[in-house]
Amino acid sequence: MPAVQLDEITFENPFVEELRGEASGTSGSRQVPGYCYSRVAPTPVREPRLLAWSEELAEYLGLEKPAERGAAVAILAGNILTPSMKPFAARYGGHQFGNWAGQLGDGRAISLGQVPALDGSRWEIQLKGAGPTPYSRRADGRAVLRSSVREFLCSEAMHYLGVPTTRALSLVSTGDEVMRDIFYNGNAAPEPGAIVARVAPTFIRFGSFQLLAAHAEVDNLRALADYTIRHHYPELGAPSEEVYVRWFEEIARRTAVMVAHWMTVGFVHGVMNTDNMSVLGLTIDYGPYGWLEPYDPEWTPNTTDFGSRRYAFGQQPRVALWNLMALAQALVPLVADAQALRPALTVYADTLAASQHELLLAKLGLTPHNPAPDRALTEALPAALAGPAVDMTIFLRQLSRLVPALLAPGTNEAEVFSELLAKAAYLPAPGPDQGLLDWLARYAQRLRQEAGSPEAIQLGMLRANPKYVLRNYLAQQAIEAAEAGDLTPLETLFRVLKTPFDEHPEHEALAARRPDWASNKPVSATLSCSS
Ligand code: AMP
Ligand code: MG
Repeated sequence: MPAVQLDEITFENPFVEELRGEASGTSGSRQVPGYCYSRVAPTPVREPRLLAWSEELAEYLGLEKPAERGAAVAILAGNILTPSMKPFAARYGGHQFGNWAGQLGDGRAISLGQVPALDGSRWEIQLKGAGPTPYSRRADGRAVLRSSVREFLCSEAMHYLGVPTTRALSLVSTGDEVMRDIFYNGNAAPEPGAIVARVAPTFIRFGSFQLLAAHAEVDNLRALADYTIRHHYPELGAPSEEVYVRWFEEIARRTAVMVAHWMTVGFVHGVMNTDNMSVLGLTIDYGPYGWLEPYDPEWTPNTTDFGSRRYAFGQQPRVALWNLMALAQALVPLVADAQALRPALTVYADTLAASQHELLLAKLGLTPHNPAPDRALTEALPAALAGPAVDMTIFLRQLSRLVPALLAPGTNEAEVFSELLAKAAYLPAPGPDQGLLDWLARYAQRLRQEAGSPEAIQLGMLRANPKYVLRNYLAQQAIEAAEAGDLTPLETLFRVLKTPFDEHPEHEALAARRPDWASNKPVSATLSCSS
């Protein structure tokens, strides 16, 4: 099938056609009881221009790269609808920071429908920042360039790191200004607007079910569950009480795998509200997320969360479980025996532990060997890293580089370790950190039991430990340049993040420890929810 332009694609609309939705099409903010979505069209923008395009995703969807301006970009900005589209905003609710928030819904995201990929799978295309919907509450339905660059880059970066995630197809500037108060201090200022076209099999969230259950809309709840199973979990068979239970177990399993990835790449979502949890176990809604630089379980990039640190790095496994329990509550009306949903929570805990262990073993170049001592070794790593404020990404990448030296006969281990820590630690430690040195000694001993050659072990480790992640200050530099009209840093960063396990010697700077100036600069290390 030759690639085609977006305006030539026939969209399919199963969500709209199979679920109850509100047809009215007006955008005034309101409660929408009784419906799973509202039909609503994007609000046109002044001067759409393509800033970034995800070539590989587009190829997979059979789409040609659009010109910088023109019909296809007008679609990506919401200025043109084609006849096969039935755009909608989904209705959902959620717990925000632990409190039930009632109806939230797509306040600025509008789905255009779904398109087939080359392999026959179906992908929904959603415009984030496309204008007001019935769910906009008091906000404007728009998104700023800075948050859109962050969502575009991070969703793609996560994909190339192998983390389950929604994708991003395009980043378009709107030519309109959007007022935002970045620091929530009463100083709102105009910023350039943008729209990301994001892509996923579906954007259904935990909160989609929660809202229907909270309003006792059991028919809609069952219809949405059946829809999700039919379209996204067909391997489970025709929906039934028993299938709902297995489905919830599968959601729990996928959520655990996603969180295991976050914990082993150092990703902090930042706002794990239940409306930001995908029913497919995908990382969704890139807002004030961040990447760990000094390893610190207490760290959160989200300034709104500085008080309770509910969504700090080390809390993520517990919060995901809390969110799954909230989803279970919502599914109770669908099963005769609520207790039947309980085993899924054990599946979550077991899968999380097993996945984290498996991912860490690969990162450490170890093949499954002696389960109990190996488990003890991987489980001790986080505490060891937290002691001397080590950069996990650099630590693991440098460890991969040093493996042959570590395995060489007669090697001076202490020298190897101090070279490693000199490269990976942030603060010049007052003395060598004994906890981490002890862990490294245990590791080196275990490494020597591996049968593979040092070169083969190293190769495996280099494929498991990325050199490049989307450090906050790098994203910020790309944003500031883009705001000033220079897209080169964004393009360079995007290119490198597509092959994060490769060396790219010409871009060494993008793999460096966060510089001191960035550690306290607002927006280079921490962010508000303003987007
Ligand atoms: P978030 O915390 O970004 O997941 O957003 C929570 C809710 O607020 C969701 O229902 C969003 O659609 C909505 N929202 C966030 N920003 C805007 C905006 N600028 N305009 C309208 N709705 C918004
Ligand atoms: Mg959200």
